[in-house]
Amino acid sequence: MEGTMEVIELFGLAFSQVPLSEAIEALGKRAGEKKGLLVFTPNVDHLVLIETDSSYRNVYQEADWVFADGMPIVWFSRLVGRPLPERVTGADLVPGLCRIAAEKGLRVFILGGAPDVTPLAAERLFKMNPRLEIAGIATPPQGFENDDAINLSIIDVIKRASPDILFVALGAPRQEIWACQNRDRLNAGIILGVGGAFDFISGRTKRAPAWMQKLGLEWLWRLVREPKRLWKRYLVRDMRFIGIAYREWRKQRSGRLGTT
Ligand code: UDP
Repeated sequence: MEGTMEVIELFGLAFSQVPLSEAIEALGKRAGEKKGLLVFTPNVDHLVLIETDSSYRNVYQEADWVFADGMPIVWFSRLVGRPLPERVTGADLVPGLCRIAAEKGLRVFILGGAPDVTPLAAERLFKMNPRLEIAGIATPPQGFENDDAINLSIIDVIKRASPDILFVALGAPRQEIWACQNRDRLNAGIILGVGGAFDFISGRTKRAPAWMQKLGLEWLWRLVREPKRLWKRYLVRDMRFIGIAYREWRKQRSGRLGTT
């Protein structure tokens, strides 16, 4: 764990206890070091996957910073009296870090997203930050990491581009696994798993209005727009979060009773 900010342990992960603006600033300060630092932003779905797959949990343990992407995690932190100030999502970190990158002359690389979407997002980010240096974009086909030839050529392209900030937008759990497996081979500063961030930034997928995000209803917005892809994730798999949260609540409660 490289991050120097206050952390609180929830669900077995060390969440950084900072608002978005401070997260962006802290990451911007470390991006130039070329240490391959990992930044993950779990939501409820990630927590469910972690619970059912110990190798994914191990990957998460390697993170240098963990920020709460999902509102239920923020609510839970308040419930157990160890409040996280707000959500820090991949979709918000990307534009924030691009702004800092343009200011500081840090180079960014984007891996993932659809070939007709990610370049649009990059164009938008560049329009917002004319001094932004985009060191490269790669949108390899689904499952590329299982094909050694493609995977190695992607790693080589990134390594030669030598970015300070690498955004990995492959969805969970693949983006975190890939980032963790390859962090030392990429010659990158910070490596962030950012899910569907470029779908939103491109404008191709409309993000939930702010009031829905605040109420923790972003998942419902996404479900209504992409029911075929997302119903199983939100309505079946993520229901397991209720049990996970209950067990964690009991654990946190007994921990506190034990210390008072
Ligand atoms: N994606 C990709 N390669 C893949 C699978 C997914 O680039 O093999 C991209 C996809 O285009 C999308 C993102 O990964 O932009 C995953 O989005 P999702 O909505 O699942 O992520 P979330 O933000 O919910 O974690």
